[in-house]
Amino acid sequence: MKKTHLVTLIPGDGIGPEVIAATQKIIAAAGASIEWETRHAGASVFKQGIPSGVPQETIDSINRTKCVLKGPLETPVGFGEKSANVTLRKLFETFANIRPVSEYKGVATPYSGRNLDIVMVRENVEDLYAGIEHMQTPEVAQCLKIITRPGCEKIIRYAFEYARTQKKKKIHCATKANIMKFTEGLFKKVFEEVSKDYPEIEAQHIIVDNCAHQLVKKPEQFEVIVTTNMNGDILSDLTSALIGGLGFAPSANIGEHAAIFEAVHGSAPKYAGKDQINPTAAILSGVMMLKHLGEFEAAAKIEAAVRLTWENEKTQTRDIAGDTRAIGTNAFTEEVIRNLGRATVRAEATKETVDVRKVLTKLTGTPKTHTQVQGADIFLEFNGTPGDLGGILEHVADNTAMRLKMISNRGTKVFPGETHTSCVNHWRCRFINRNGKEISDRQIYDLLFRITELKLKWVHVEKLQDFDGKPAYSKAQGEDA
Ligand code: NAP
Repeated sequence: MKKTHLVTLIPGDGIGPEVIAATQKIIAAAGASIEWETRHAGASVFKQGIPSGVPQETIDSINRTKCVLKGPLETPVGFGEKSANVTLRKLFETFANIRPVSEYKGVATPYSGRNLDIVMVRENVEDLYAGIEHMQTPEVAQCLKIITRPGCEKIIRYAFEYARTQKKKKIHCATKANIMKFTEGLFKKVFEEVSKDYPEIEAQHIIVDNCAHQLVKKPEQFEVIVTTNMNGDILSDLTSALIGGLGFAPSANIGEHAAIFEAVHGSAPKYAGKDQINPTAAILSGVMMLKHLGEFEAAAKIEAAVRLTWENEKTQTRDIAGDTRAIGTNAFTEEVIRNLGRATVRAEATKETVDVRKVLTKLTGTPKTHTQVQGADIFLEFNGTPGDLGGILEHVADNTAMRLKMISNRGTKVFPGETHTSCVNHWRCRFINRNGKEISDRQIYDLLFRITELKLKWVHVEKLQDFDGKPAYSKAQGEDA
């Protein structure tokens, strides 16, 4: 008897309900047996006054089904609640975001004929998307970029395991390690370590800006790109444009506790309810879901039918066909259903996702590290010149274990010495030990107490640590040893 899979369905906002309805219809027509549990998240939930945008009944359903087909969720830009998308990804620790793109016959692009087949493997829960932001002063905002060794190792091993199962020969790791040596640098370092366990796969690091350049110039050189969250978010919109646009880019969010399948695109509100948009990305996300569930035959049938539909220039949506010859979302869906079984297909029993448990068992962990506190960066709010502040702080540290080493503003050293930096009221004041001895918490409190006594306002403190004898903190631009 045919197995019925229980899947949580989140229709989403804007164009979400249209693309999700199309996907459900096609999956049913292809013969896969799915029982959908419809739940909600996003705009409608915010309106009910639930600030997370993800109600408990949706969380309960996902805990039960462990599999989600999801429409895009709207997130207001620049104000309001946090993204319900990111909340879902983080709540279920879906650390791997897989975003494949491949060329479609009939969809003419400047790259047609190059047989593009690129998979972006994006870290999905860390980086700037940890969402830890603080206004430091009324004129200075800060967002913490959190990159962890376990987070890097999980996604990088996932990417190599994925490449191995998909018989890919090459992985690029795209980072900004030249500038962010501790965060993006950690990602690069772990990539270099993990790559040694996969000698049959060519591993190459590329700086992310050059990666964007090369993707536009010669995209056929890429097979799999593994990268940090923000880089992957941006680069994957770029790769979708290489093959026809966001209407063609599916994705899977994979973790140990759940898998969430969704189009890369957002809720495109201007097209909502107009029967105009391209449902291909959502349908292909459904195909990825079917492969994840082991429904290889239905997946192969749908993929082939979608490809066949795009080959016919009379059955294309507006994003490719323009206003004059386009068909609507519903007509496109019916055409895909008509084409099911028309195309000759061979169902390959290859999952498009990797068994996360297999990845987790291979994790090597963090090497033992000797740490020693050498000083502290004390961030102050201060209205005045670097010279004014430097003069005060040099005396503050008199007869303490630390001395003022330098002050920077927006990352550039402004004291001691001359500066052309346009300064704001947020200053990093670096205090370092005088005699090479470890600095205690009490010594840092003592310094903070002296600063407070002078009615200076400190806003945050970072310890300066050496790890295995090497500084584990960055220098300011222009700071000497
Ligand atoms: P978007 O919704 O992806 O739309 C950007 C543009 O991409 C559209 O204006 C349209 O381009 C094209 N497009 C997107 N989906 C398409 C489709 N299915 N068929 C054809 N063309 C399509 O991005 P946005 O306007 O930046 O974001 C809108 C909202 O979605 C925001 O609230 C954002 O936070 C949210 N969002 C959610 C997710 C998610 O749920 N995973 C992802 C991204 C964004 P043209 O204008 O050129 O026709």
